[in-house]
Amino acid sequence: MPEVELRNITKRFGKITAVEDINVKVKDKEYVTILGPSGCGKTTLVKVISGIWDATEGEVFIDGKRMEGIPTYERDLGYVFQNIALFPHLNVWDNVTYSPRVKDLEMEKLERIGNEMLDLLNLLKIKAFFPNELSGGMQQKTALGRALSTNAKLLLLDEPLSALDTRVRLELRYELRRLVKDLGLTAIHVTHDQEEAMSVSDRIVVMKKGRIVEIDSPENLYKHPKTLFTANFVGESNFIEGRIVKVDEEIGDVEIRNKLHITIRRNGFKRGDGVVLVVRPENLILQSEEAANSIEGVITKITFMGAYFRYHVKLKSDDTVMVDIPTIYKKRFNKNDKVMVVFRRENLLVYAKPYEGLMEVLKLE
Ligand code: ATP
Repeated sequence: MPEVELRNITKRFGKITAVEDINVKVKDKEYVTILGPSGCGKTTLVKVISGIWDATEGEVFIDGKRMEGIPTYERDLGYVFQNIALFPHLNVWDNVTYSPRVKDLEMEKLERIGNEMLDLLNLLKIKAFFPNELSGGMQQKTALGRALSTNAKLLLLDEPLSALDTRVRLELRYELRRLVKDLGLTAIHVTHDQEEAMSVSDRIVVMKKGRIVEIDSPENLYKHPKTLFTANFVGESNFIEGRIVKVDEEIGDVEIRNKLHITIRRNGFKRGDGVVLVVRPENLILQSEEAANSIEGVITKITFMGAYFRYHVKLKSDDTVMVDIPTIYKKRFNKNDKVMVVFRRENLLVYAKPYEGLMEVLKLE
């Protein structure tokens, strides 16, 4: 069964290093997403796995077998791209059963596989339609059907939903995961969309500039990102720089700009350490009254987001933070209101201040 392992993969194009020293093991039947900003090497990595490109250094193993010298068509995989590539002169049925591996089967077997695939994808009713008669979502499902009708157990998906409109994209996300799990496939899915990655994956590989930043489950990446880059790229975060000025048994006191203070849970840091405090917008509290561990600020912007209001608050420390308050809450604030932003210690993540500067590590390129 297809476990995929990349060992020390580097791919260079002349002087450009697209990916460098990539090590990752995708388990059998696992749904793994490669997530990162544009140009970080995601497509390069799937092309190396598929055999479209050879790695400059390193090795690819599929199902324990070294892939060197094995062409794409012998790697037993299905590949779906962003640009939906259907044969325009073939209808849905003929597109799905196009692969020689299917075409060469006896008629009865071919009929069975084709029907099963279309049924699975809910395409049976439109099997006689031609690509130009289909919506983008249907076209991409047909492409998926064609990739899977070969009975491949490894599915490579390169931005498969990017060309679709939001509603179809959300629907197909769910369908993709269901399909992969129902059929017991191993899936490697490339995307720059963190929400898409979080909603489909068992694990996410976060990449930046050709390297892996970290690998973890969507929930862990969101709740306990190991790096400032991930805290910024996966979900949204507020970042406040400061210095630890006091540490006792349980609590650390962080001085932020303008000599203001926020306390944190005690961790490995010691007095004098430069730190960055990270907090998700939904984990901050806004109130009019004084409160412990709070910083005063003024509301500079309010955006209605449907399920919540997003408030931008300029703190007395000159930091501006985003605070999300569910719409269901009765209490509302107005622009220019003076508010207290409450920092609950259990919701604060603390990182060492990066020597290259905060902005530099958060940069996407
Ligand atoms: P995107 O999300 O924009 O598709 P990506 O993360 O998939 O980006 P890649 O397409 O893998 O990134 O590109 C990684 C780097 O390798 C980029 O700097 C890109 O310009 C370079 N690159 C990719 N393909 C080639 C090529 N055929 N020749 C030269 N450079 C290339």
